[in-house]
Amino acid sequence: MKTGVGKLCLALLLLSLQAACVTSDTRRPLHSGAQALESKLRDLEQRGDPAEVVAWVEKVRREVHEPSQRARFELARARALARQRQLNHADLAFLAAWKHVEPRLDPLAAEIHEGWADARLRAGSPDDAVEHYRTALRCRGLARDDERRLMASLSVAHAEAGDASSARLWEHRLGVAYRSELDSARARLELSAAVKPRPTTYTVPKSARRSPADPRAVLPELHRRSEWGARAPSSNVLPMSTVYRVTVHHSAERSPARGQAAGALRDIQNYHKDSQHWADIGYHVLIDPQGGVWEGREWGLQGAHASGANNIGNLGICLLGDFSNAGVAAAQQAALVSVLDRLRTHYGLGPDSIYTHRELKATECPGRYLQNVVTVYRARLRETLARQ
Ligand SMILES: [Zn+2]
Repeated sequence: MKTGVGKLCLALLLLSLQAACVTSDTRRPLHSGAQALESKLRDLEQRGDPAEVVAWVEKVRREVHEPSQRARFELARARALARQRQLNHADLAFLAAWKHVEPRLDPLAAEIHEGWADARLRAGSPDDAVEHYRTALRCRGLARDDERRLMASLSVAHAEAGDASSARLWEHRLGVAYRSELDSARARLELSAAVKPRPTTYTVPKSARRSPADPRAVLPELHRRSEWGARAPSSNVLPMSTVYRVTVHHSAERSPARGQAAGALRDIQNYHKDSQHWADIGYHVLIDPQGGVWEGREWGLQGAHASGANNIGNLGICLLGDFSNAGVAAAQQAALVSVLDRLRTHYGLGPDSIYTHRELKATECPGRYLQNVVTVYRARLRETLARQ
């Protein structure tokens, strides 16, 4: 009995000693080890190769135990994944980083949610981005510069989501002196204001296809020219070659009220024929605010909408309205997406074949809100294609 208790005590003593040894053996070197890991992480991030950051974090993250530190490692990995445009993986990594910090709303949490929002915006999910920017803005201890950058990003995200009034509200809160923050936010997020004309090639790719004799073969819902009282085209027009790109415009006029689209189309045609001396209305497809889709110029004829050689093999789509200061109506936006989807399928076009007017020429057209719709459409398409 006595010896039994003694043995037990000895065993417990040995166990606790062993535990103490394990603790001191692991904890002490780990502490300085963790510091070394963090400084290595900073070096790698500064060197700027995202693949290297991802690989290294995945290798060493089991050695990191303190929650804030784990969050910083996951955040570095998430940002690196986002830079590699692995947006779904980045999304999960941001979530993992947040799990280590939650529910603390401190500057580290703000960094996580800001990075997360940026990635969601690039992935074409502006509603998610709005939520994350809002959470980041709620965090305590933010520097004024960080706050301003977040407000600008939030305004841009609202605009992306088609919520023009919230976008203006945050623009307003930002204050006139800091409006340039909006441009830097768009540039950072590679969104519309940063859009510069991008190079386009005039060599027709092998995959390009001709237009159908009747455009209703592709868009069965098209309202005919006769429905809007179109005048006949004149003969100063070239035949359309194979179509290998489409370009999105706005009419830069006030959105026509319900039932007024036909009149708006006649006005555009009169302007194009009588003032511009073009053969016909310049665009091939027009979309009204209720989502009605209208037949413009015959698809077998080259359009007049993107200046000179930019019209070659280029189908012109015009949304009725002015989208420089107002969002695109949901029905109109949905109609555009559906038209683009079917044109892409018919002509075999990828995301790089879809342009906006300002990407071909220095112009405001199609306004920043419609520009954002197209930018998001292409981003989503790229993501879908990358998954396939
Ligand atoms: Zn235009």
